[in-house]
Amino acid sequence: MKKTFYITTPIYYPSGKFHIGSAYTTCLCDSIRRYKDLEGYETRFLTGTDEHGQKIEESALANNKSPKEHVDYMASLAKDLWKELKITNDDFIRTTEKRHVDVVQEVFEKLLASDDIYLGEYTGNYCVSCESYFTPTQLVDGDKCPDCGSVTKVLKEETYFLRLSKYSDRLLDFIDKNPEFIVPESKKNEVVSFIKSGLLDLSVSRTAFSWGIKVKSNPKHVIYVWIDALTNYITALGYGSDNEDLYQKFWTGGDEVIHVVGKDILRFHAIYWPIMLMALDIPINFRLFAHGWYLMKDGKMSKSKGNVIYPEQLVERYGLDAFRYYIVREIQYGNDGVFTPEDYIGRVNTDLVNDYGNLVSRSISMVNKYFGGTVTLKEHNHEYKVFEEDLRNVAKETFLEYKKNMDEFKVPNAIQNISALVRRTNKLIDDTFPWNLAKDEALKDVLESVMYHLLESIRIITVLYRPFLIETPAKVFEFLGVEENFQGFKNIEFGSKKSYSVVKKPSHLFPRLDLEKESVEIKKLMNVGKPIVEEPKFEAILPEIEFEDFTKLDIRVGKIIECKKHNDAKKLLVSKIDTGDKIRNIVSGIAEFYEPEDLIGKLVQVVVNLKPMKLRGELSEGMVLCGENSKKELFVVEASDELSPGDKIS
Ligand SMILES: [Zn+2]
Repeated sequence: MKKTFYITTPIYYPSGKFHIGSAYTTCLCDSIRRYKDLEGYETRFLTGTDEHGQKIEESALANNKSPKEHVDYMASLAKDLWKELKITNDDFIRTTEKRHVDVVQEVFEKLLASDDIYLGEYTGNYCVSCESYFTPTQLVDGDKCPDCGSVTKVLKEETYFLRLSKYSDRLLDFIDKNPEFIVPESKKNEVVSFIKSGLLDLSVSRTAFSWGIKVKSNPKHVIYVWIDALTNYITALGYGSDNEDLYQKFWTGGDEVIHVVGKDILRFHAIYWPIMLMALDIPINFRLFAHGWYLMKDGKMSKSKGNVIYPEQLVERYGLDAFRYYIVREIQYGNDGVFTPEDYIGRVNTDLVNDYGNLVSRSISMVNKYFGGTVTLKEHNHEYKVFEEDLRNVAKETFLEYKKNMDEFKVPNAIQNISALVRRTNKLIDDTFPWNLAKDEALKDVLESVMYHLLESIRIITVLYRPFLIETPAKVFEFLGVEENFQGFKNIEFGSKKSYSVVKKPSHLFPRLDLEKESVEIKKLMNVGKPIVEEPKFEAILPEIEFEDFTKLDIRVGKIIECKKHNDAKKLLVSKIDTGDKIRNIVSGIAEFYEPEDLIGKLVQVVVNLKPMKLRGELSEGMVLCGENSKKELFVVEASDELSPGDKIS
């Protein structure tokens, strides 16, 4: 029976278009998965989106959308991107799906029943954007969030707690007995010292907002997003459903499970998740691989800095394989990597154009020129034999090193192993001067042997590239006439394939890039500073409603009397609006499109009977109607000058 391998990305938080950071994690997982496939494992690969929480609720409202509409759109962007990058995920889980929601509710009830979760009261400093409480010692500058720097708020609420403290010794013991549980080791050490500093019970429910999974036995509480999100790794396998086949195959009865996570979310995965599993009596048979980030020269990628680059932009200009190769090659194991246009172009030119692409085209053209396209393994005793022997040894060593690195998730190192073999193969040409051998009929066998060695080495290199290059290997195998049974690890040994017949005219694998010109092109893309504008899509008309439904809306003319920016939400404006009956406080998500003073005095249309709600601490007693254009810009819908505050609109 095949060994099993289950790999997951974190489920992504759908706050906008994905830049190369999220694409990095996903491509990395996809490469590891493709490698395990070559190794003969039965593999499963999961990704998805984390769709609950206060931030989602607020950004949906700020875009005048319902949270569901908002996450539907975001999830579709993610799915489209993974398709374009030829990601091979078997499943895509969304935390708003029923298969997930039902099980998370059951998990919570189970933990309540076992007293691992209990009801209590919490007072603390809360960061809205991180959706986390922090203890006074964790705060920065008195009241600021240590993770994102926002000003925290003191909140007091009834909340459920998960007993982390009860399990901290067991967790430390587990980590001690499973030294490979968290890699790299530096990251493991951070986790261990965090646990040793003392785990407080974790607040695992919220009552301040409603966009989340409700506690079944007490629905005014919404389950904390991390409890919800982490559970995806097993709900997607059918845990707790009518069909647990995948769960039994890949989790309880599986051989290897790996969660690949960014270092920023390691703590949740290394502490909360194993403790949840212990409390649920589920085996902790996963491992964690924490990777670094892609940084830009001026720090983290952000739209406001204008240093964002999107995967689609690079793929469109330079092809899928160049992008997929670069993205997993450049960040060194355990570190962060810096994206620069020069490095991108340089890496593609050096490794793919000059070394690999050139080796393939030179070799094919020599085999055609000297042997009419067909060569066979030949014995000879010429002194050049040592170079061939050396190449065979390097190929053998390369495969062993490559496997060792891939098994430890040291992907860039494994790719460097291949590059070294490419260079050694190119060197065989420099060592043996084929054009001189060709002049002497007596050395024909020697020349044929050299040609054979080049092609056999290219075959091996191409097999090793299969986890990272998605489209190129099939082309190279076709150029060389490599049958399917010589395209995997089974026959990777040098000399397995005895003869070759190559094509006459191979197409170009990788076009050479002009370093200076292309660096400027990438910088132009980055300095747009805004996400790619989506093709304007006509938004589908909603299902029919009864006239009665419409009459439930009370829309009135309102006059904006005051307007200011929201204290701690960049996208929001807070207005005082006269709607005839009274002066209302109304929050609108239009700060990107209006200066507050532009709005004062305007007659607008206001839905006045919406249930009041708090948006980032500001009461909102109604909604100003806005129209959205194809560029996703919002404009308030004004009312005619003939109308006055309080006039009814229908
Ligand atoms: Zn924060």
